[in-house]
Amino acid sequence: MARTFFVGGNFKMNGSKESISTIVQNLNKADLPSNVEVVLCPPYPYLAQVVAENKQPTVKVGAQNCYLKASGAYTGEVSPEFLKDLGVGYVVLGHSERRQYFKESDEFVADKVKFALSEGLKVILCIGETFEEKKAGKTIDVCKRELSAVAEKVKDWTNIVVAYEPIWAIGTGLAATAADAEEVHADIRKYLSTVIGAQAEEVRILYGGSAKASNVGGFRDKKNVDGFLVGGASLKPEFADIIKSRQ
Ligand code: PEP
Repeated sequence: MARTFFVGGNFKMNGSKESISTIVQNLNKADLPSNVEVVLCPPYPYLAQVVAENKQPTVKVGAQNCYLKASGAYTGEVSPEFLKDLGVGYVVLGHSERRQYFKESDEFVADKVKFALSEGLKVILCIGETFEEKKAGKTIDVCKRELSAVAEKVKDWTNIVVAYEPIWAIGTGLAATAADAEEVHADIRKYLSTVIGAQAEEVRILYGGSAKASNVGGFRDKKNVDGFLVGGASLKPEFADIIKSRQ
C-alpha cells in the first residue's frame, strides 16, 4: 500500500493573529497537490483561527501538545476533547523541545499518545537523538527506546505518524543528509515491524530537522522518507514549495 506523502508545519511558539492569517491565506491561494496530506500546528490560541481560515481540503490542523485527561483540575492543560471540539484532528507529541525543556519522559509521552488516540486524535510522534548520542553510535537505540515506550501501550499504529527528528538538526540549519535519514528511517521501520508486524509498512515516517525548500528535493528517491515535519520553514512562503516537493 502506498503511503500518502505528509508535510507537517510546526509553528512552535511563534506567530500572531496577523502573521498566522498570512500563512493560511498564502496556502489557500497555492495550487497544492491533492495527494499530499498537510497538517498545520500553530500555538493553541490560534488553532480555531486556522481551522476557520483554512480553505484547502488537504490541509488539516494539529496541536503541538495535549494532556492525558479529558477534563478536570489540571490548570493550564489542554484536553484532546477541546482539540476535537475545535476541529483539530492531529496532535504532535514527544517533540524533543518538550522532552528536553519540560522533562517529558518516554512513559509520559507514551501515556499521552495512548490517551490522544483513544479520544480520536491522530498523533505525530517525534523521536530522535542528541548530537552526543549520534556520535556514540546510539541513534537507533534512542529511537527504539522512544518507540518501544509507545509500542508497549499502543498496539494499533494506524493513526500514528512517526517523525524522526535528530535533535542536532532541529533549528540549526544542519539537516541530516538524505542518505543518513533514509538509513535511520529504514532501521525504524525494521524495528517497528518487530513490534507491530506488517502494519509497520503502513506507518509514515517523516524527517524533521532544518528541512527547507532548498534541501527537501534531495530526499525524493528515499523510499522510507514519507514526508517532513517542518519547523522554521513552515512560517515562510517556501512551505508551499515543500508541500509540492514530491510532484
Ligand atoms: C521541529 O521543530 O519540529 C523542526 C523540525 O524544526 P526546524 O525545521 O526549524 O529544524
